[in-house]
Amino acid sequence: ATGVATVKILRTLMTLGTMANINTMIDTETGEYLAAEHGVEINLKDALSIEDEVITKIEEIEDDPDTLQERPPVVTFLGHVDHGKTSLMDKIIDKNVVSGEAGGITQHIRAYIVDKDDKQIAFVDTPGHEAFTAMRARGANVTDIAVLIIAADDGIMPQTEEAISHAQAAEVPIIVALNKIDLPGANPDKVMQQLSQHGLLPTEWGGDVEVVKTSAISGEGIDSLLETILLTAELHEYTANPDRPAVGVCLESEQESDRGVLAKVIVKNGTLRVGDIVVCGSSHGRVKAMYDTLNPRKRLTEATTSTPVSIAGLDQAPGAGDKFYVLDDIAQAREIATLRADRSRSESLGTHTVKVSFDEFQKRREEGTLGNNEAAATLNIIVRADTRGSIEALQKEMEKLDHPEVKVRTLQASVGAVSVADVTLADASDAVIIAFNVIPDEAARSLADDNGIEIRRYNIIYKATEELKALLEGRLKPEE
Ligand code: GDP
Repeated sequence: ATGVATVKILRTLMTLGTMANINTMIDTETGEYLAAEHGVEINLKDALSIEDEVITKIEEIEDDPDTLQERPPVVTFLGHVDHGKTSLMDKIIDKNVVSGEAGGITQHIRAYIVDKDDKQIAFVDTPGHEAFTAMRARGANVTDIAVLIIAADDGIMPQTEEAISHAQAAEVPIIVALNKIDLPGANPDKVMQQLSQHGLLPTEWGGDVEVVKTSAISGEGIDSLLETILLTAELHEYTANPDRPAVGVCLESEQESDRGVLAKVIVKNGTLRVGDIVVCGSSHGRVKAMYDTLNPRKRLTEATTSTPVSIAGLDQAPGAGDKFYVLDDIAQAREIATLRADRSRSESLGTHTVKVSFDEFQKRREEGTLGNNEAAATLNIIVRADTRGSIEALQKEMEKLDHPEVKVRTLQASVGAVSVADVTLADASDAVIIAFNVIPDEAARSLADDNGIEIRRYNIIYKATEELKALLEGRLKPEE
């Protein structure tokens, strides 16, 4: 459509080192280069504008305060393996869901809503804090409250520590369930002690973290846990506008033989109804049917805010963390979905951008694009080190770093190799990972590469702090 022979364009692309065919998607920069090279004018903005026009507009809708009503909180359980996450969830379903027909479709992420004292609580059970943070990295924040499960006989374990940092980075309130309280080895005082050391001071000890003693076996404390969740929700006043077209997030999806694509979604605002036109990631369609997440044979006609629901009718399976929007025009939904599919195909072909790195931070700083607001001028770091001692030494040195405009914030500091969870956390929080005397495991390294996350390795404390200092002062030398 440019009047320039395809071969010519392909040849130019080849000189740029890109092997392309006529279906290849190219990035904006290359497009502009090509246009200049061949003396044609192109309007690259056109392709993006429909998405901007429709989706951005929806994102920007601000609900009139008069339309807002209380909505159920969405709760996620986090904790070390075997501390009782699954058992507690099961017990809550047993006690509070009448249907009893749970199961049916394969559930990796369980999501359901339960009734409690005339109110409701939604639970989204991600397989771990990695999944929790991976969703957040995609802007798909669904969690309002994190419940941290700690076995009272075992105390805070490495994954508990990670879960704490992930919940803190998400800036959601944390409630602690001190589980397995029925065991003779349960030692609540010891765990409270550990919690205090991790900056989570229990209310019993004058802090602001609610600690509820539970047993998934006897059921002790479950009511009290649910009550505490509702109290916390009341305090935070979660609201939504039930009368607007729904927006939400896909939690997982699958291709079923009889019902086609079944997507488990959670409504974040508005009300989703059968018949609604939906675009979700690069899939779209009209909601043909909705099913209860706990009882997949039970049909629903609508899902209000915070309600997880399985929907049928999308043309393909959306990804976990894809946001959905209700539109009023199916052609528009198709156009946006197609545009996104094309774009993700082109992205997977190559060029990825570095998200955060020391150099990038410094560059943005020099350009003044870090902005004046506090959050923007903070460099988030995640520290992994070989020993507690190294972490303490590093932290002590870092406390001495002081700069009026730029701050360093440690999201997590723990012992052990850099893990996939660290990389997802870094991705979600725009953080750089500092690896002190440790190396990333293979999976972490490749995920970091894919997502443009910088892992900076050091083996001398002063070297690490020196670079951080140089960075704060804006005089970091480019990496050799
Ligand atoms: P998850 O890995 O955190 O999901 O842990 P599970 O729910 O699978 O529980 C791990 C093990 O601990 C199972 O054998 C459970 O039966 C047991 N368990 C979980 N909660 C309790 C509890 O409150 N008391 C006791 N005694 N055992 C529990």
